[in-house]
Amino acid sequence: MSQKIKMSERQPNERNKDFKQVNLGYTPEQAIEEAKRCLQCKKAFCTQGCPVEINIPGFIKHIAENNFSQAIKVLKEKNNLPAVCGRVCPQESQCEKFCILAKKQESVGIGNLERFAADWATANLKNEKTEITPNGKKVAIIGSGPAGLTCAGDLAKLGYDITIFESLHASGGVLRYGIPDFRLPSNVLDAEVDTLKALGIKFVFNCLIGRTKTIQDLFDEGFNAIFIGTGAGLPTFLNIEGENYNNIYSANEFLVRINLMSAFKFPEFDTPIYKGKNVVVIGGGNTAMDSARTAKRIGAESVKLVYRRTQEEMPARLEERHHALEEGIEFVELTNPVKFIADDTKFVKAMECVKMQLTEPDASGRRKPVVIKDSNFILETDVVILALGLNPNPILPSLTKGLETDGHGYLIINDKFMTKLNGVFAGGDIAGGSTVIEAMGMGKQAAKNIHIFLNDNTN
Ligand SMILES: Cc1cc2nc3c(=O)[nH]c(=O)nc-3n(C[C@H](O)[C@H](O)[C@H](O)COP(=O)(O)OP(=O)(O)OC[C@H]3O[C@@H](n4cnc5c(N)ncnc54)[C@H](O)[C@@H]3O)c2cc1C
Repeated sequence: MSQKIKMSERQPNERNKDFKQVNLGYTPEQAIEEAKRCLQCKKAFCTQGCPVEINIPGFIKHIAENNFSQAIKVLKEKNNLPAVCGRVCPQESQCEKFCILAKKQESVGIGNLERFAADWATANLKNEKTEITPNGKKVAIIGSGPAGLTCAGDLAKLGYDITIFESLHASGGVLRYGIPDFRLPSNVLDAEVDTLKALGIKFVFNCLIGRTKTIQDLFDEGFNAIFIGTGAGLPTFLNIEGENYNNIYSANEFLVRINLMSAFKFPEFDTPIYKGKNVVVIGGGNTAMDSARTAKRIGAESVKLVYRRTQEEMPARLEERHHALEEGIEFVELTNPVKFIADDTKFVKAMECVKMQLTEPDASGRRKPVVIKDSNFILETDVVILALGLNPNPILPSLTKGLETDGHGYLIINDKFMTKLNGVFAGGDIAGGSTVIEAMGMGKQAAKNIHIFLNDNTN
């Protein structure tokens, strides 16, 4: 039994200077060879690990048989965003984790094959207009992230008239403004959004629901049901001394400036960004890796990633950690900032930190980081990026009577994905998701339940 075919990637010292893709994808020959490794299990555990229920052995079989157009057809039956998922899904903890081959050696490269089929389709197939019989009912989708796009796509295929309302001037949510082009190029996302537009889905940009229009306005305009997929865009802060000094960014602000506003091209584009020489990123998740690798690409001489646990506990995908290290990001483990220090003009110039150690595992198996006494030290920096996690977007719930949230700000939904407001459904990060595929899975389940709701005459 062979090993998984490795996808080729650009050299670290070349790629860490631009925003072009790091991974280069499979060639058709590599895809066919990798697809042939699939055992075509009758009981496919991989599919059970997929929140959007893709027929994984089904699409892989077509690749193995050199029938790529059929492979993408099978993928698209369930997944509206295969080129996105093939690039950013944590397959190692989803489908590939359950692949039977993973027990003895390496799993089939399901994500790599999904990416291959999707890219092949973009390059070789035209976006044909799907024939859909309208059912006369209208659904409003709030937010154009993966949850909203998935819910919209599934409902459009069932004949609903769909409008997506988005507060920003572009679609995709975090896929556009958070994840950088070197992992997910905008034109790849555009191509997936175009296939949704071909289903008749309409977009209204620069429209902040809650302020520009209310949920009640949408019902008054004739929408029969509403899906909320407003995500988790509210940054977490450390609440320590000096956090308001200049050149301390939240990761969200930093990435939005770069990815959405092209700030690294200032003054050609309107939005500026300070290009630090000596950048420190605080955190250990995907957002931290994206921020660190982005800072390097816009010219930082040194980028340190400060994390209070060790690499082993970092929540970022393994591949992102490897890529960051290869590109010259230095990991400063078991370290926590306690105070920021500024120069006379209130620009950050250093951080006081403490060293941490991990306790023995508690009942849940988790090792807690605790401060080592008298371990304080100074780390010099001229830009700090805080990538400490994101909280649910509070604007819509706070402006909508009856839309209840739990103690952490997540929308409360029932097992039908309906919020406390009749006819208003929700999914994705605003309702407790935390990955692209979870958001998509919730969007899909919500679409099923909206369809049932709108065809149940008792409502
Ligand atoms: C930098 C970064 C990197 C990540 N990397 C990965 C990764 O590699 N793999 C992975 O699986 N996950 C990753 N994640 C997590 C993943 O992106 C999210 O879980 C996912 O995007 C959530 O999807 P969503 O549709 O719920 O919300 P979002 O993607 O946040 O989209 C919500 C959309 O709603 C809009 N909106 C908000 N409020 C309103 C309103 N009131 N009216 C109208 N529109 C509104 C927002 O502008 C936004 O476009 C990453 C997250 C970040 C921040």
